[in-house]
Amino acid sequence: MKKKYLYIFPFLIILGIVIPFTLSMADLNDIKSTLEVFKSRPENIVHNRKAPVNDTAASTELATRIENGVSSAVGTPSPPSAKPQVKNLSIPILMYHEIGDGPSSLYVSENNFRAQMHYLRSNGYTIVTMNQAREMLVNKQIPPKVAVITFDDGYVSIYNRAWPILEECAFPATVYVCSSFPGLYNYLTWDHIKLLHSGGVEIGSHSHTHPALTAVNPTALTQEISGSKQILEQKLGTKVYSFCYPTGAYNENTPKVIKNAGYTSAVTVKFGKATSQNDLYLLPRIRVFKADTISTFAKNIQ
Ligand SMILES: [Zn+2]
Repeated sequence: MKKKYLYIFPFLIILGIVIPFTLSMADLNDIKSTLEVFKSRPENIVHNRKAPVNDTAASTELATRIENGVSSAVGTPSPPSAKPQVKNLSIPILMYHEIGDGPSSLYVSENNFRAQMHYLRSNGYTIVTMNQAREMLVNKQIPPKVAVITFDDGYVSIYNRAWPILEECAFPATVYVCSSFPGLYNYLTWDHIKLLHSGGVEIGSHSHTHPALTAVNPTALTQEISGSKQILEQKLGTKVYSFCYPTGAYNENTPKVIKNAGYTSAVTVKFGKATSQNDLYLLPRIRVFKADTISTFAKNIQ
């Protein structure tokens, strides 16, 4: 080789290092942004209903969604460079009693309940327990399309009819039970309650005997609120955080007694979605009626 071409070699060596390095950095960036997009896509968020209630996995995934600024659960993820858009949204806390065909307005048919759960699933809703929802309300970080499914009174139809449908959708729920009801006709037994709890259902208190709390004396009030919490905690071997007013009745004093007993939230029968502006001990809910169609159901939770 002629001497005058020798000067090319140092350039070839430099190009040999720079080009592969640049390509590998570009690959890494591509992989990184692909992973970010994958992580932020709602269909990649697993509804792990079998996880324990206090598991933080669901919260972490939801926090990721907030951080990524996902403005719609079915929308296009924001580009990595976009600023996180944390919106202060509301949470529909759905209220159910009995699932099945019955004479009173407490019933929602199995078919309607299934259609409502499938609506939530196919429309990208993430279902959280009441205690997880409380945390979002406190932190003022509410991802879009989050809802809570609650059942009052602890009817056996929750286990027999609602639970298989919730399992189909991998949804958790929150069940408010009266601590003196387990084993009574048409109510969940302690075994049912324990099975639901170990399957990811949060168990809250609906008092001990279901009186209107505005109509009982102070001693009875303590038993209904603190006594019920102690019984549930002892039976389940876990903390009970959430309370639900029997008959929906409360006065100025009752939220304070509930708070002092160690509960972290209480739900009423007032119609509406919960926001961070609500008193945590007077949270409204969306009652699902027997006559609700999918369109009225959808409209109520929007
Ligand atoms: Zn009730």
